[in-house]
Amino acid sequence: MNVKKIYMDADALLEGHFKLSSGNHSQFYLQSAKVLEDPKTAKLLADALAKQIKASGLEIDTVCAPALGGLIAGFALAQALDVRSIFAERVGGEMSIRRGFEIKKGERVLMCEDIITTGGSAMEAAAVVKSLGGEIVGVAALANRGFCKREGSDVQTQPNCKLPQDIPFFALEDFTFEIYEPDKCPLCKDGSEAIKPGSRGN
Ligand code: ZN
Repeated sequence: MNVKKIYMDADALLEGHFKLSSGNHSQFYLQSAKVLEDPKTAKLLADALAKQIKASGLEIDTVCAPALGGLIAGFALAQALDVRSIFAERVGGEMSIRRGFEIKKGERVLMCEDIITTGGSAMEAAAVVKSLGGEIVGVAALANRGFCKREGSDVQTQPNCKLPQDIPFFALEDFTFEIYEPDKCPLCKDGSEAIKPGSRGN
């Protein structure tokens, strides 16, 4: 499966000059929502990810996704794995589990995102799951931005990766393009201005 081509065909791999939520700049931006707007593509990707997870032998009771980014990927993956699908959401800046979702003591929970950059949101949500008695058995994402090592990849974990090293991380593809601190950004040096993804309809 050529995940990069799927993102490009869906106009989900944007090229330009972007200001990321971290404040850093990048020439590329991944907009997974554009890939997942086609339910058939969402199913195709989730099935491939589920296949990889099942092959590992990991046992899972529940998939938990941090909203909003992970919602569709999390649901599609839970469907492919035939397990329960729940989500965590930010309320007043704090990640929380609401909506009447319950977690049993020792329930084996796989965290799911559309894209793992450093894994910060996934781990914030995982902390809430743990506080309710759940056990985090792994992390999954459609795409990996290349800061954390996923199963079966040569990409090595970078210091900014927030995923724990003692549980597996599954993703379909590494997208390892560079990010720049604003004062070191070559695109800024060339005179263009970084835009926030979403600010011009993307
Ligand atoms: Zn820049």
